[in-house]
Parts: sequence; structure tokens; C-alpha cells
Amino acid sequence: MGLATFKGGIHPYEGKELSENKPVEVLLPKGDLVYPMSQHIGAPAKPLVAVGDHVLAGQKIGEAGGFISANVIASVSGTVKAIEPRRVANGAMVNSIIVQNDGEYKTVEGLGEDRDPSTLSKEEIRNIVKEAGIVGLGGAGFPTHVKLTPKDENAIEYILVNGAECEPYLTSDYRLMIDEPEKLVGGLKVILQLFDNAKGVIGIENNKPEAIKKLTELTKDEPRISVCPLLTKYPQGGERSLIYAITGRKVNSSMLPADAGCIVDNVDTVISIYMAVCKSTPLMRRVVTITGDAVTDPKNFNVKIGTDFSELVEAAGGFKTQPEKIIAGGPMMGMAVFSLNIPVTKTNSALLCMTKDEVAANEPTPCIRCGRCVSVCPSHIIPVMMMDAALRNDCEQFEKINGMECMECGSCTFICPAKRPLTQAFKEMRKTVAANRRKKG
Ligand code: SF4
Ligand code: SF4
Repeated sequence: MGLATFKGGIHPYEGKELSENKPVEVLLPKGDLVYPMSQHIGAPAKPLVAVGDHVLAGQKIGEAGGFISANVIASVSGTVKAIEPRRVANGAMVNSIIVQNDGEYKTVEGLGEDRDPSTLSKEEIRNIVKEAGIVGLGGAGFPTHVKLTPKDENAIEYILVNGAECEPYLTSDYRLMIDEPEKLVGGLKVILQLFDNAKGVIGIENNKPEAIKKLTELTKDEPRISVCPLLTKYPQGGERSLIYAITGRKVNSSMLPADAGCIVDNVDTVISIYMAVCKSTPLMRRVVTITGDAVTDPKNFNVKIGTDFSELVEAAGGFKTQPEKIIAGGPMMGMAVFSLNIPVTKTNSALLCMTKDEVAANEPTPCIRCGRCVSVCPSHIIPVMMMDAALRNDCEQFEKINGMECMECGSCTFICPAKRPLTQAFKEMRKTVAANRRKKG
């Protein structure tokens, strides 16, 4: 039998060799730390501090603004310098707490203390995850405590750890699986404690044999945990692709993974759950890959959330060539950024600095009706027809041909020989249709 996978998909240049063999380095910040109150899906957090206040590392400085929201935690000790809008990776100006780092890293009491999860109730575990400000660190930013509180916890049969890391160039999850596998397994065991009927499966693409080997070995005596090697194909790590590859279950845009008996969490998210529950440490850091041909020495850094991206680039030796394009995230789903003076937030897994050679020429030409976009689409929809509807701004037709099932993976744009900006058009159409639906109530 072949390796687990989904139908469709593409094989872009992987680019992982630039940083995959660089173990995670801890990088301490030099400048001010910027904590946006929106680093997650849902209501923004509310500042709990005022200008002039002294804060400690591990202190809650932003309180979740509702059930679907997340706390924000200070990652250093220092003084609150300002509370004002600051630009984040997606270009938005977001209300942020700016902390002047005192360089002492004084922490709140009890931070780092060992805690035995078997002594905790399910409610206590969920509450610790909520207080720790944990969200989906793979990029989605969905509050994890909400994900861990489905309508019917007995209906959850699979806890899937997304170790696919299918985006080209990204290696932060890979390094974590190699460097800190015990924490990953520890975090998965904590999640399994919440779901009596579930088993845990760690899905890893087969271009990461060392991670597969290490985690298989580590889990061989864990009856509820297994490792599932996946075919290397983009977007294998898309939530729906992963669920289908491992369980054979289909999820569409009107369903949550929990409706198919699944909960999916990314590698760093599961490690953050371990840190919060077993080591009394809320979400204050994350691993970020700084990579691309423009970077002198591509690396993976463990950084304090709130650190300025310019400090990460400097620590990677700066630029050896002026980058043509800088992307927060990977080349398929990341977003172009126009300044390095943006803070690392919970959802930033990488900064990709590409040279002219790496940036494909993208002058669009007319569609030649080759059908390649249709054959690669993992959502089994028809991008060429969706583009016709998008060009006419025909929301009704876009919906009729299931345009809302698009997961904005970028595969159609990648494969299109006419270089048509398909995914960009679908993103806009999906936003418009969603706004129309909200208006209609
Ligand atoms: S239509 Fe959407 S889901 Fe299908 S390949 Fe294009 S971006 Fe991906
Ligand atoms: S891949 Fe591009 S050129 Fe080919 S059918 Fe799709 S939109 Fe047209």
C-alpha cells in the first residue's frame, strides 16, 4: 500500500536544505518587545497594564476579549512604554503593548515549575491552556482551548498532530520534532487525557525520515499513539488534506474537524500545551525559520514573542543579497511584508527572503484551458471556472460552483502556465461572499 495522502496537490521546489540541518538556537531580544492584542482568530485581547507599569516574564498583559479570543503574555520583564497601534506581518495596524526590556528576565512566581498532568482534571487542563494564551501556531491562530472544548468530547476519535510542514522552505516544526520530541509526545499525552475515546496520530511527510524514526521509536510503547508517514506533496499539511490522508474522512467548509471526530494541532502548538501544563510556562516563545537565498546564514530561532524581525535577520548574518521579496511564512500561503520592523507574533513561523532568481516572473497571460489547475486542486473544485466568476464579480455563480470550498492553498496559481493570479482572486471572492452572508444574517 502507498503512503497516506490526498487527491490532487503539487510538488514545488522544497528549499528546506537551507535550514533543515540547523538546530534551534535561542535568541534573546535586544530592543523593545511589541505585543499585538490580536495574534489570533476572534476578539482582540484587552490590555491589562498601563504605560509606566512594570511587567514580569510570564505575566498576563492582555486578557482574552471573549470565548473565541486569547490572552497575551509578556515574554520579558520590563516597563510598559506605550500602548498604541503597530504594524503586524499581514499589514494591519493592531493595538499593541510595547515593553522596554530590562534584560533581567524576571519571571512571575512559579514559572517553570514541574506539574504532573495526571493530578489535573480535564477542566483544569483546559483552563491552563486558556490562561497560557495558546493558539494554533501553524498560522491559523485559532484559540486552542476552544478547539479542545468540542460540543461532544466523546465523539473525538483522533488527535492529529500536524507534522507535515508541507510549505516549502519552512523547517521550524521539523527541527522541533528532532530537537524536542519528548515535549511533543508529552503534549499529545496531555491532549489525549481530555478525550477518552481518541487515539493520537503524528502525521509526518516522508521527506523527514529522521523525524519519523525518532518519534516512532519514542512512541513504540505508547498504546494510544502512532506515527503516520505521509507522501510529500503540497498541501499535505492543510487541515482537510491531513484528515483525509490519515483517517479517510472528508471535511468541507461548513464543517469543523470535530464534526469528523478529529482535532488537529500543529507541532509547536502541542509543545506549547506541554510547556503550559507540565512546566507551568505560558506561551512566550516560538520557533521561527529565517531563510531564503538572500539570507547569509539561514537558521531556526527560538525567540521571545514580540521580538522585532530585524533582530532575527541580523542574527542570521543579515542579507548577502538585497531581497527581491520578503514573505512572512512560506511561498505558497505566506504574505509579502514591506518592512522588517514588525514583531514576531504567535502565528509567524518563518521569514522567507527571496532573491530575484527565486521569485518567479508572474506576468499573467490568457487562460489556455489546459485544465492543470483542476487536476491539482485538493478541494476538487474547478479553479478555471471560479476565475471566470471572479472576473465578473459574480458571487452567486462562485458559490454555486463551490468556490467557498477553496482553502487558498495556492496550488492552482503555482501550476498555471499562464501565471494567472487565481488564488489571490479567490481570496477576495471568499471574503466578499462571507461578508454578504454575514449581512444577510
Ligand atoms: S482553487 Fe483553492 S483549494 Fe483549489 S488549488 Fe486553487 S487555491 Fe487551492
Ligand atoms: S491552469 Fe491556468 S491556463 Fe490552465 S486552465 Fe487553469 S487557469 Fe487556465
